[in-house]
Amino acid sequence: VEGRKKTLENRQSDDVLFERVVFLGTSSAVPCPGRRNMSSLVTVFSNGSTVMVDCGEGTQHQLKVCTLAKASRLDLICITHLHGDHCLGLFGLLLTSGSDGRTDPVVLVGPEGLKQMLDSVFSLSAPPEYPLHFIEIPNAMHRQCLESGQPYKLKELLPPQLQFLGNLSAVPLIHGMTTWGYVIEESGKEGKLDVRKALALGVPSGPKLGLLKKGQNVVLDDGTTVSSSDCLGERQPGRKICVLQDSSDSTAACRMEPLQNVDLFIHEATFEHAMEEEAIEKGHSTGVMAAKFANMCNAKRVALTHFSARYNPSTKLFLKEQRKLEEMRGNLGCCADGESSEPSGGELACEPADPAETVVAAEAREVFTGPHGVHAAQDWMVFQGPTFAPVMTEHDTNPAKKVAKGIAEVRRKPLLAVSRNPFYPAAGFLE
Ligand SMILES: [Zn+2]
Ligand SMILES: [Zn+2]
Repeated sequence: VEGRKKTLENRQSDDVLFERVVFLGTSSAVPCPGRRNMSSLVTVFSNGSTVMVDCGEGTQHQLKVCTLAKASRLDLICITHLHGDHCLGLFGLLLTSGSDGRTDPVVLVGPEGLKQMLDSVFSLSAPPEYPLHFIEIPNAMHRQCLESGQPYKLKELLPPQLQFLGNLSAVPLIHGMTTWGYVIEESGKEGKLDVRKALALGVPSGPKLGLLKKGQNVVLDDGTTVSSSDCLGERQPGRKICVLQDSSDSTAACRMEPLQNVDLFIHEATFEHAMEEEAIEKGHSTGVMAAKFANMCNAKRVALTHFSARYNPSTKLFLKEQRKLEEMRGNLGCCADGESSEPSGGELACEPADPAETVVAAEAREVFTGPHGVHAAQDWMVFQGPTFAPVMTEHDTNPAKKVAKGIAEVRRKPLLAVSRNPFYPAAGFLE
């Protein structure tokens, strides 16, 4: 990516593209410190601007130690709904950004009530000293969007500093309260300049080629005009990322135009398939349900998140469940290198594989028909590159997936400090 940024072509272009998606938290209502924080993720763009979706408690801790995203570049935060695991991290994060010297505004998009929630706390406490710019989606729009099959368009409501986004829409989800999913689109890329053709039309090599590339017509010394459309290939559409949580039914959203052919489909998968009934009752999805929604919109890659604490390795609840799973599947999924970095708290000889991956994502994989697969997101997992391929963190237990280059990137010191944090005894945290 670094190399690509330095090419002449990119320096001449004003296109702002996705750089990476970083998961800061992948748990549902209960965090497992050091393993799974509450639900949150950021999207970093090539201009450094950073967009966060949801901000569960602990998000600012995660961002502080993350080397791949900066709180100081956080320009937009989209909140899906007002359940605590998706927004209670805002107070601390916004305040700390102020004491870190932030003066630029932060734009907050979310359902009706978001402003009141923050105003209540900040009016009784002390508000951050930089501007908060709220864009609330009226609750009445939820039904209207469901009935019309149209998304709620946000791009035109964004201030100038966020107009580099190709598009931003909210789509209605079905949950216990008004909940919106978000579709973020990058600007797309200018078409390739046919240099040979431009030269043949008399354009001298030099800055005029750059203007053509930017879509501008150029006037030659002899007065003739060469139009950019004559030597510029078709513009490449921007890639799209969607974040759909929490949701027991994303059907309406997945039929909407912005979701079509989405490149990275991020969806909650709180439970495994055997618990589908309970999942729907609680307003949630299973991995299999998420994969079916992804198929509806021809998604290219699926990242599952928002896992129940029962899929957190090394919690008592999990260890109990693990014995059942062990019987059912005859496979404990021990780590390949036998490394045990945390106390197991049970009879397990080594740390079990991530059950969100071996159970929830594995089931979803059986159903998903898109080209790039299904992944159980983990905290610190990074999705990047042209197709958003995941870079596994050290929690990954499948050595075949450990792309050497990516591992080098996420294994920088601050990240290691997270999983080895002595203040967070991982085992037995629950109950
Ligand atoms: Zn939730
Ligand atoms: Zn919720």
